[in-house]
Amino acid sequence: EPFVLPPVAGGMNDAQREAVRHLDGPCLVLAGAGSGKTRVITQKIGYLLRDCGYNARNVAALTFTNKAAKEMAERVKSVAAPNQLKGLTISTFHSLGVRLLREEAKKVGLKPAFSILASDDALGIVQDLIATTDKGRLRAVQNTISLWKNALVEPDEAERIASTEGEREAARAYRSYNATLRAYQSVDFDDLIRLPAQLLERDDEARERWQSRLRYMLVDEYQDTNACQYRLVQLITGPRAMFTAVGDDDQAIYAWRGATIENLAKLTTDYPNLKVIKLEQNYRSVQRILAAANRVIEKNPKLFDKKLWSDLGAGDPIVVVPMDGEEAEAESVAVRISAARFEKKAQWKDFAILYRSNHQARAMEQALRNLKIPYMVSGGQSFFDKAEVRDVLAYLRLIANDEDDPAMIRAITTPKRGVGQATLEVLGNYAGEREIPLFAAIFETGLEQRLAARQLAQLREFGEFIHRMQWRAGRGASGEAITSAEPAGEILDDLLRAINYERYLYDTFDERGAQARWQTVLDLTGWLRRKAEEDNMTLVELVQHIALITMLEKNDEEDPDVVRLSTLHASKGLEYPHVYLVGVEEGLLPHLGKDDEEGDPAKAAESLVARVQEERRLMYVGITRAQRSLHVTWCKKRKRGREDVAREPSRFIEEMGLGGEKIVDTTPAMSAKDRLGMLKALLNKGG
Ligand code: ATP
Ligand code: MG
Repeated sequence: EPFVLPPVAGGMNDAQREAVRHLDGPCLVLAGAGSGKTRVITQKIGYLLRDCGYNARNVAALTFTNKAAKEMAERVKSVAAPNQLKGLTISTFHSLGVRLLREEAKKVGLKPAFSILASDDALGIVQDLIATTDKGRLRAVQNTISLWKNALVEPDEAERIASTEGEREAARAYRSYNATLRAYQSVDFDDLIRLPAQLLERDDEARERWQSRLRYMLVDEYQDTNACQYRLVQLITGPRAMFTAVGDDDQAIYAWRGATIENLAKLTTDYPNLKVIKLEQNYRSVQRILAAANRVIEKNPKLFDKKLWSDLGAGDPIVVVPMDGEEAEAESVAVRISAARFEKKAQWKDFAILYRSNHQARAMEQALRNLKIPYMVSGGQSFFDKAEVRDVLAYLRLIANDEDDPAMIRAITTPKRGVGQATLEVLGNYAGEREIPLFAAIFETGLEQRLAARQLAQLREFGEFIHRMQWRAGRGASGEAITSAEPAGEILDDLLRAINYERYLYDTFDERGAQARWQTVLDLTGWLRRKAEEDNMTLVELVQHIALITMLEKNDEEDPDVVRLSTLHASKGLEYPHVYLVGVEEGLLPHLGKDDEEGDPAKAAESLVARVQEERRLMYVGITRAQRSLHVTWCKKRKRGREDVAREPSRFIEEMGLGGEKIVDTTPAMSAKDRLGMLKALLNKGG
């Protein structure tokens, strides 16, 4: 009897259905924004589990952000029964990397409780290696090392290929940087992908185990993977190559972090039997929005031919509004949103304000606050970057991994507990000579000759305090897990009490500052407690989990009714009925930064062209987030320091080719009085 494919549920067009059902080998869905690529992944998960008898444990879907993972997890609930979903992996590359490293820790020479260093801590290490306080130079070195790691370039090769003075400096630091991380039992974000890839490369046993474990992989936003991520997928899927990747070359916006669009082309050469499927219908945006997006992206050279159409109707004209300055811009957008919400009977969460750079959020936030419009910032300075959060986390990191020297230094000095710089230097030197972690050095008898009794007592008191906490958290003296762990929440409360952190805040900051910071700490502990209970995480797992969410977005897991403020980068993959694209000016979008090519003018020109193209893709991403209406604003002048600087509209506005249908609305921002009047009128109408 012929084998009949089971039917696939859910709204899908023929091309999507074909992608979902293709199981004869690797599959690439290459298509523009809003064409249902992510939908293919969710539906395919359902198809594998429900119709093809795959065990959820053997399926993994990889997304670009935690938020995207969360959303996908939500959506798959409608394509398979709960018992069928048990054990399914939906995560970011980095979370998968953490899981792999934790399980294979021994094989890569790490303890399972290794620390994941945030970019700032890693920068501290670079600073120790390169004697400079120039933050720009340190960041440049850090970035260069990061790009090498993502491209799977090892220190030896880096030394060979370094061509500028900056690169040579980075190459010299690269090896010691890795060694230092290792000494701290720490990894940086790049290592979370690089180390697993290297392990699977050299270790047949581990590779085969993971291959038989993750039998089918699905990868979203494939255009933004880097060489290392490509390799990891390749190693896990092995010669059977059972995977589906979806992506859009026109939305590649992470080249600056080492993502390489060539990965798309590489697939076709690495996998001769690759099935390439194109999707052409856009289900997200009305025609005017889609047409403007298409016209902008047409200006870029294209790798693959793509045409997108939509049958969602023409929609309202796109509105382009020149503004007098950023305050006027912010105020106008806020007023427009509150009016539109009323007129369209929309919710706050139907609106998004998107911008190129984080600093643009400030004026927007103030304007929204003035009008009492609820909002949430994503992709900006993270909650987890706040000093008070990092202070508390330093303790948790140290409890989880006492070889984490950066955490040790932060914890022992915040709040100050009478351990002076001189004492720390002696401790640091001693630990350095003995090649042991700072924390372990505290208890060495050898230290006794170098420090006065009082200094030593202070150090040891701290050390014993951490030991007690470790014990309660379920870690034995040498890091082994013991079963009688107390709940993370209780340990946290006692910890804060013991270090008297609230008192420290009030001693250090003024009343209001201290209050705000203490509230942040309470938010943190509340969240940690919930997380520990809901997901049944130990303190060690919690700490590693936190390190991950700091990377791309803060933890906004719920979907409250608020206006979304977001950078363009963080808006990828998402959609909103009404989008306000602000600050669309030359110099801001495209944001061109400063020339980084030394000397060679031809090279400089080439890199400028490449940067404009990447910025154009960012504009394309921005436009295509909008479902029903799009506003574009730019400022005729903008403050730089105390001065007003004249600005030009972005070339991308021209490229949208709005022509006859363009409505340039030059209404000046409303005065406070008019605004009040309008709001009153709205309220009356509403009542
Ligand atoms: P992006 O490139 O921005 O990530 P995408 O290609 O991943 O976009 P999706 O987010 O999967 O697109 O889909 C865009 C919207 O269209 C979603 O709201 C989705 O639910 C809807 N959609 C996708 N396919 C269909 C379909 N066949 N019928 C109806 N709606 C669809
Ligand atoms: Mg998508």
